[in-house]
Parts: sequence; structure tokens; C-alpha cells
Amino acid sequence: MLLSPPDVGPLEESYLIRALRSGWVAPVGPELDAFEAEMAARVGTAEAVAVSSGTAALHLALLALGTTPGQVVLVPTLTFVATANAVVYAGAEPVFVDCDPATGNVDVTLVEELLAELRREGRSVAAVVPVDMFGACVDYQRLLPVCEAAGVPVVEDAAEALGATHHGRAAGSFGRAGILSFNGNKIMTTSGGGMLVTDDSALAARCRYLSTQARQPVEHYEHTEVGYNYRLSNLLAALGRAQLRRLDRMIDRRRRLRERYAKLFAATPGVQLLADGDPGANCWLTTIVVDPRQAGWRAGELARHLAEQEIETRPVWKPMHLQPVFADARSRLTGAAQRLFRDGLNLPSGSGLTEAQTTRVMSAVEQFLESRR
Ligand SMILES: *Cc1c(COP(=O)(O)O)cnc(C)c1O
Repeated sequence: MLLSPPDVGPLEESYLIRALRSGWVAPVGPELDAFEAEMAARVGTAEAVAVSSGTAALHLALLALGTTPGQVVLVPTLTFVATANAVVYAGAEPVFVDCDPATGNVDVTLVEELLAELRREGRSVAAVVPVDMFGACVDYQRLLPVCEAAGVPVVEDAAEALGATHHGRAAGSFGRAGILSFNGNKIMTTSGGGMLVTDDSALAARCRYLSTQARQPVEHYEHTEVGYNYRLSNLLAALGRAQLRRLDRMIDRRRRLRERYAKLFAATPGVQLLADGDPGANCWLTTIVVDPRQAGWRAGELARHLAEQEIETRPVWKPMHLQPVFADARSRLTGAAQRLFRDGLNLPSGSGLTEAQTTRVMSAVEQFLESRR
């Protein structure tokens, strides 16, 4: 049983077949336009640009903000590698920031300190890229004023957070631009795909242009700069439209799973749910954090017990500052991300889990907890 497999069925099939039969089998067409309009409406932004991945959306957002070599971009150390890679694609240098241990989201105090320090050093900061970890929004009420005071734009990496809210506002809508991912394991999928959302129509136009090989608006093929082949296929946009129609139901199912896990672990000392009590979280993944001294067992032991029953779990992201590829990068650390990596565990969270599968997971966890009591 997988952690977060795609949840697709007859609705997706009918949308895909309709798109195929329409003849728009290309990275252009009516499904693409409609998918963008529907996603912009959902997130509450003026614009949306559909691209081939969340990583491509991050890359374009950074380019459109004018990111250049020599600049730095603040990135949480606790994230999927795509966030940091996009910074390198844009020629800039990622600087890694540790997280709040209760949520796994970027530590705003460290961001503030680091921005002041970089300013004293005369370094130019192209952007701050907060990540809404596992579907729970960063504390934007604190982060946005800090970045605004420093004059640094925010690109919200909401790859995991579509459908989440923070004080009534939708994930993706907080920065100058936000990015979403529709990879196969995300809360909704187009098999692979992503989107940039923003209120800034000039920025959206720039991203759309860069995503289609930077073609000048003339008949012959004219290019004044290097672009990218990043546009989403019209077929996959159709798949995305079907998934978007089902998004709220899929989120409900993930939330109900989290509630069951919460009940299951309620009486277990030393086990916390990450971002517990955030009513706006989309519950993409449910993560437990185990204090081995209080619990008497380690997260890895539960992982092994579940693996024996063919139930997949995953550790929390390995922090970027511990990745060999970023060994030389600068970082601001408290140890929180490293502890979450050691003590955290993502549990099966897919919206397509059947009642029988859910029961099987819950009993396997229960069995483990019994054996450790
Ligand atoms: C999945 C993910 C991405 C990248 O999205 P892709 O569509 O797979 O390129 C970026 N950032 C975070 C935090 C992610 O989880």
C-alpha cells in the first residue's frame, strides 16, 4: 500500500477522452485555457500559467523576478529538492533556513535575522521561497511583513498545499507568485504538471512567454532570448480539470484519515502530529513526530513494522543542508529540521484508500503500539 498514490477514476477518463477526441493533442488548446481559469478562480488569483511541473513553475517565477547569478534566494532546508534546484537553475545561490519544530515550516525569526545579515554584507536577495510543508501554510501573517520590510519578494512553494487555507486565504496566493504541483503523488495530479499563480499580469505574461520558447509575437520564428519548453499538454489539463472538480472531496478524505491517526495516537506519549490543529491544512500527508525517550520506540521501528506488512511510510524530507549536492551551501540552523528528519514519519495518506485498506493500516499501527506498551 502506497503513501499517496494517484486517485483517478471514471471522471478523469471521460475528461481525457473528450480532450483526445477534440484533436487538441498539443501544449495548447481549450482545456489548457479552462484549467488555468478554473485554478485561478480556486486560488483567488488574477492569473494562472499551466506548465509541465511544479519545478518548472518555480524556475520561471524566479526568472520572471529577474533573479541573476550572484544573488541569493532563501529556501527552507526542510523541503523537497526541487525548491533548491530551481534556485540553481536560475543561476542564484540557495541559502538554507531551519524550521519551526511544530510545523516543519520555515522559521520566520531566522529569515528575519538572515535578511538583516545579508543586507549588512551587501548581498542581493532575489526572493524568499517559503514551502507550505505537507499541506499546512507557513505563518504568512508573520513572514510577509518581514520580507516586505526587507524589500524582498516572496515566491510561495505551495506544491503540497493546493486547497489549504491560512486565515481564510488560499495557499498559493500569498507571495508575488505561488507555485502548485500536479505530480503523481500530490493532492491532485495531472500525472506530471504544475502551475504558477499570481495577481501580477506582467509576471504571468513573462512566465507564459518563457514557457513557450520565448517566441516573439510574429509569424516567423523570432527569438531575442533563451526560453524553455515548459508548457503543460492540453490532454493533461483536461485530467487536471477533472481532478479539480473532485479536489474538495479528496481533501475531505485526507482530513478524515488524519483524524483517525490523531485518535489512534492520542493516548501514546511522545507522539505528535506535525502541524496538528491547523484547521486550514489540506492534510496531504499525515506526519507523526516521535520522541523516542517518551515513546520508548523510534519512528524507524514503526516504519519497519509497517513495511513488513507492505504498508509504505516515508521519512520527512532529508534537509537540504545535509544533501551532498548542497554540501557547500550556506545555512542558518537550529537543528529542528534534522530532528524532524530523524524522528518524523509520513503515514499512508492517499485519498483513494478504501475503507478496508484504511482499517488494515490502523490495525497494523495499533498492533505495533500494543507491542510497545
Ligand atoms: C513536489 C514538490 C515540488 C516539485 O513539483 P514537481 O511537479 O514534482 O516538479 C516542489 N516543491 C515541493 C515542496 C514539492 O513537494
